[in-house]
Amino acid sequence: MSSLSTIAAALRGCTTVLVSAHKSPDGDALGSQLALMLALKKMNKTVIAHNLDPVPETYRFLPQNGDIKIGKPVQGRYDAYVVVDSDPPRTGLFDKNYPADVLINIDHHITNPLEWPLTWLDPNASACGEMVYKLIMELGVPIDRDIALCLYTAIFTDTGSFRYSNTTSESMRISAALLEAGADPWLVTENVYESIVFRRLKLLGTVLSGMERSTDGRIAWVVVTDELYRQTGTTAEDTDNFVNFVRSVKGVEVAVLFRQTAPEQYKLSLRSKGRVDLSGLAQTLGGGGHKNAAGGVLEGTIETVKQRVLDDLDKAIRAALGSGAAA
Ligand code: 5GP
Ligand code: MN
Repeated sequence: MSSLSTIAAALRGCTTVLVSAHKSPDGDALGSQLALMLALKKMNKTVIAHNLDPVPETYRFLPQNGDIKIGKPVQGRYDAYVVVDSDPPRTGLFDKNYPADVLINIDHHITNPLEWPLTWLDPNASACGEMVYKLIMELGVPIDRDIALCLYTAIFTDTGSFRYSNTTSESMRISAALLEAGADPWLVTENVYESIVFRRLKLLGTVLSGMERSTDGRIAWVVVTDELYRQTGTTAEDTDNFVNFVRSVKGVEVAVLFRQTAPEQYKLSLRSKGRVDLSGLAQTLGGGGHKNAAGGVLEGTIETVKQRVLDDLDKAIRAALGSGAAA
């Protein structure tokens, strides 16, 4: 594993840099990626940002998000390739033939397999944006208003607006510095929480009306099928955050969102209230993540996928909390 100063030194020595984040990018992925791109450009480097998936509508307010190249293939060769907020495979862009000799991975997911020698991993960082803030400071680039907005968005979204248990005094201190540097908190709030498109809120209503829970009330789940996307003119992007409503139910320890991604394939989003650790469980399902937010992809029909996940969760909950009374 590498340190902040090693990563900064490696970047100083490079002229051309490619920066990527994970598939289905979120506020932390995009905020970290764009902030790093803007900072490296200020150092007169040539920087290309490239992701597999497009920027969700919600995040189209981020400065220069339109410069992010989308989809395969990635063109060219670079001095350095930097992957933020993701392990390298989760970018979905390459099968090992990475387009640079200097490979840098900056991440805060505890399940990161440390595949690259220049991996800087800080699972205590609430957001990868906190790490990128420290890196930009280390590189000596002044944090301007645009960089501040990107990094504030990263921390604001990954801490659930400073509500989740990953929120630390440091996340607050860095966020305060970002506000001082000109980040507009209402601009972020309005775009992230107060601009939900009509079809999306209608979809939430439909999805929540199908919510189910286990007999002890400790697991609750919802399912989104291709058929429902078709009927409502929505996409997977519209279901972002739905799982948090399911977790908010009293008595629920773990919430699951099953999203159909192919006729016999489902993407899982898992959320815990904090007493059941999901990161290891997600890894056994072929995915990964954090203690309280994890995910992965499973092959099978909804019945088989649901049974496997709910059985595993039931075991994990019993192991952590014993058998519970019905809620
Ligand atoms: P979400 O439910 O928002 O898609 O993902 C929550 C967290 O779970 C993410 O921050 C990420 O850490 C993790 N995660 C979700 N899907 C995957 C996956 O397919 N692979 C890995 N390694 N982690 C995932
Ligand atoms: Mn993150």
